[in-house]
Amino acid sequence: MATNGKEQRTRAERHQEVGHKGLQLGKESQHLLESDALYQYILEISVYPREPEPMKELRVLTAKHPRNLMATSADEGQFLNMLLKLINAKNTMEIGVYTGYSLLATALALPDDGKILAMDINRENYELGLPIIQKAGLAHKIEFREGPALPILDELMQDEKNYGSYDFIFVDADKDSYLNYHKRLIELVKVGGVIGYDNTLWKGSMVAPPDAPFEKYVWAYKDFVMELNKALAVDPRIEICMLPIGDGITLCRRIK
Ligand code: SAM
Ligand code: CA
Repeated sequence: MATNGKEQRTRAERHQEVGHKGLQLGKESQHLLESDALYQYILEISVYPREPEPMKELRVLTAKHPRNLMATSADEGQFLNMLLKLINAKNTMEIGVYTGYSLLATALALPDDGKILAMDINRENYELGLPIIQKAGLAHKIEFREGPALPILDELMQDEKNYGSYDFIFVDADKDSYLNYHKRLIELVKVGGVIGYDNTLWKGSMVAPPDAPFEKYVWAYKDFVMELNKALAVDPRIEICMLPIGDGITLCRRIK
């Protein structure tokens, strides 16, 4: 439908009202939505009122931590929790735990005999959230391995029984290793199972001009994320779906 100038102005004004800031390049944030107000709306109408108490407690605790920007956002936590239930996941893996928000979202979604092999180079941060996971009666589902993920994956690859054994794998760690993880994870996830690579929109940096005001670490990893995205896009062993939730997550469903 054609719009006249008056209607267009009104729309622009409305955008301003909800805090429209274009791509918000360089903004330190947990979401990519153009409108902060719209994001807030999602949180308030759909996420916070239904957020399980332990997840809320962990989110509040993590918010006080100096590296809290690393945490999975509440809406992405809700998404992961639902996805795991939809696919009836039972045996899962997580690379990159931090204080455990996505881990808790996963543990809550799995059946009582479900398993999560969780790995992180930093045990201290995991232990910050652990009492909340224990209090929720979920710790028995988690096997935490401290250390870099790659050697742990190589160890898993030594045993035939691990091949094709994972229903879901969430990767949220060192972005420069994702392609190396993928080489291994594609063998470990079962056909029909899902790998979720997190932060694949990398704050929008891939479409940003070179003078966009990102922190150094964003530029440092941008090319690795772009390489990953290109490789996943042409990988015939998977179907993919790139979602703009959180900082972007690419779901890869193994098909062969
Ligand atoms: N999924 C977490 C959550 O929901 O809060 C956030 C993970 S945070 C973005 C990334 C984590 O990856 C950090 O805790 C970091 O210690 C971990 N990490 C970095 N390099 C790693 C590696 N080579 N192997 C395993 N973990 C690594
Ligand atoms: Ca992440």
